[in-house]
Amino acid sequence: MTLTPKYSGWIEVICGPMFSGKTEELIRRLVRAQIAKQRVAIFKPSTDNRFAEDYIVSHNQRKIKSLQVQETNKILDYKDKADVFGIDEAQFFDSSIVAICRSLANSGKRVVVAGLEKDYLTNSFGSMPDLLVDAEYITKVNAICMQCGDPANYSHRISSEQKQVVVGETDKYEALCRRCYIEKTGNKK
Ligand code: ADP
Ligand code: MG
Ligand code: ZN
Repeated sequence: MTLTPKYSGWIEVICGPMFSGKTEELIRRLVRAQIAKQRVAIFKPSTDNRFAEDYIVSHNQRKIKSLQVQETNKILDYKDKADVFGIDEAQFFDSSIVAICRSLANSGKRVVVAGLEKDYLTNSFGSMPDLLVDAEYITKVNAICMQCGDPANYSHRISSEQKQVVVGETDKYEALCRRCYIEKTGNKK
């Protein structure tokens, strides 16, 4: 991503499994935008009903101030207040996130989105496929396989819950490479 548009907005997507450094990379890009004195607005999904100021925190404890929105549409209220939009955990937003990111990019904004492109069963997650289709720039990051140390592209759920969305950390998930994921789950999809 050495060359970015001068005249147009665009969408960047950072994807990969859990623990792969998506949030770390998102924070790195947004902090650099702040250093460049650009106005940055950062959003994460929320179960809360109000706008609340909070933090996006990576597994290695880097953090940056963010806003929680209950209604995804509220992100557009920030159109005139920011130049760069950061969105973490994009897979958890409802499908309107795609039109919102497009609308922001169409009006000249830089939109940096991080999220899981697939769930623990390797099915695509939320609106991530559509965001990847629309993005100008895509970065896919790998974690490290907890079994063998190879690059890991899969989030393996260790707990026995079966809903698609079960929020958890290393207590519930481990990153695995292709070989170890198939070995442990039998899922060859
Ligand atoms: P993500 O947002 O993709 O879940 P984060 O950016 O929050 O990832 O965290 C990345 C950090 O997680 C790494 O810098 C490292 O300190 C830590 N980490 C824990 N487990 C792993 C793993 N299996 N592979 C790589 N990094 C890991
Ligand atoms: Mg993250
Ligand atoms: Zn492995």
